[in-house]
Amino acid sequence: GPAPEADTEARAWLTRHEGKLGHFINGAFVGSASGKSFDTFEPATGKLLAKIAHGGRDDVNAAVAAARKAQGPWAKLSGHARARHLYALARLIQRHARLIAVVEALDNGKPIRETRDIDIPLAARHFYHHAGWAQLQETEFADQVPVGVVGQVIPWNFPFLMLAWKVAPALALGNSVILKPAEFTPLTALLFAELAAAAGLPPGVLNVVTGEGETGALIVEHEDIDKIAFTGSTEVGRLIREKTAGSGKSLTLELGGKSPFIVFDDADIDAAVEGVVDAIWFNQGQVCCAGSRLLVQEGVAPVFHDRLKRRMETLRVGHPLDKAIDMAAIVAPVQLQRIEELVAKGVAEGASMHQPKIELPKGGSFFRPTLLTGVQPTSVVATEEIFGPVAVSMTFRTPEEAIQLANHSRYGLAASVWSETIGLALHVAAKLAAGVVWVNATNLFDASSGFGGKRESGFGREGGREGCYEYLKPKAWMGRKLRPEH
Ligand code: NAD
Repeated sequence: GPAPEADTEARAWLTRHEGKLGHFINGAFVGSASGKSFDTFEPATGKLLAKIAHGGRDDVNAAVAAARKAQGPWAKLSGHARARHLYALARLIQRHARLIAVVEALDNGKPIRETRDIDIPLAARHFYHHAGWAQLQETEFADQVPVGVVGQVIPWNFPFLMLAWKVAPALALGNSVILKPAEFTPLTALLFAELAAAAGLPPGVLNVVTGEGETGALIVEHEDIDKIAFTGSTEVGRLIREKTAGSGKSLTLELGGKSPFIVFDDADIDAAVEGVVDAIWFNQGQVCCAGSRLLVQEGVAPVFHDRLKRRMETLRVGHPLDKAIDMAAIVAPVQLQRIEELVAKGVAEGASMHQPKIELPKGGSFFRPTLLTGVQPTSVVATEEIFGPVAVSMTFRTPEEAIQLANHSRYGLAASVWSETIGLALHVAAKLAAGVVWVNATNLFDASSGFGGKRESGFGREGGREGCYEYLKPKAWMGRKLRPEH
């Protein structure tokens, strides 16, 4: 059907900011010193959404100076006082949930059902959770101090949730932040900054500098930043690791994945089929921990693939603001093209492709839910992250073979195991090289549980007590230079 009209509140917000969506530095919106800007588009229609300031060296310098000035006083607040700020932010997210959900759906192209029911509520929960840690800081982390000024660079697949994962723990524990959202999806970070200012967050504690990769690189290389927290591709993560090596900066990296989804003969097949829907078609498969490699035990493979194909016929692809759809748009034409090329490569390598015969909306970046079967474990589609709605399926005979296939990857972010025999599921789960393993479930997140990878999926944890330590350092820490008290 036709694209539903975006709701008036979101349009009003966009119009109000038209042409002046600048950086948020020291508590105020400012344009780029260079006057340069870039465009953000609506993936579902290809239409221009907003012009965004492009951060250069002067903008990054200004943001870092503001963050440096604000960090000392922010850290000196009692944990209780800081907790009140985080509670206020959490409540603001809830109060403006609808506006944030709509802007996110427009800018990213993901279904409003997901932003409304998953991204935004989880983000609010992240701020509530970390408000609790702020309150407990003096007792639970008595021997630790904040890291200081933190540069945070995030991707476009969960723009608002990734903001929450980065900003909530950093602020809770007394750090100040320079955040750079991804160039495809800068809007909800700016909306959040506006809300934070209205909620009385002290100027300079949170700064948002918008821009492309070069802006991120300026943050990564800045002399007066104490820590870099990055979520994004393994390629950029590797670059950042090289650039920060020996700089004295702390670093955490949350990178890509190619997570196995293992289905044993005795699995609850209907539940596992629904699991695949959540594993690889949630957010159009643009999920770092997507269950993108289906490993199916031989005995059940024909039945499982049959039922999965039947389920695929019922998936609805449409405009993000249509509440009745399951999948919406791919974030940008360049990502769509990458997905198309990889799927073509898979077929050329001998895989069989299945796509339901559903009609796609016209004008935007859309791709059908896709299943590749008969995939070779060493083929490109079985080893490379596709970051799209494409499941690749392989079969195995024994649990040992499943473990071996699952671990045959340079990544190690997540895994899920489906079996009605709990002993088997737990035996296999313990042997998987993955930061998180779900049993008879997939893509579950909680603010209290540390999330992060192994191998080339990165290092560091976000969420829970483990995540707090990423924004703290021991009191006696002797860094690259000793700083006077600010
Ligand atoms: P990307 O690496 O291209 O970009 C991520 C961010 O880094 C963007 O803000 C971008 O502007 C910035 N950037 C680009 N080049 C840079 C440079 N040289 N220096 C500093 N910053 C730079 O990744 P993407 O395409 O936006 O996101 C998709 C990737 O993110 C996937 O690989 C996905 O698996 C990964 N991801 C991982 C997690 C996780 O928690 N492990 C979560 C979400 C996404």
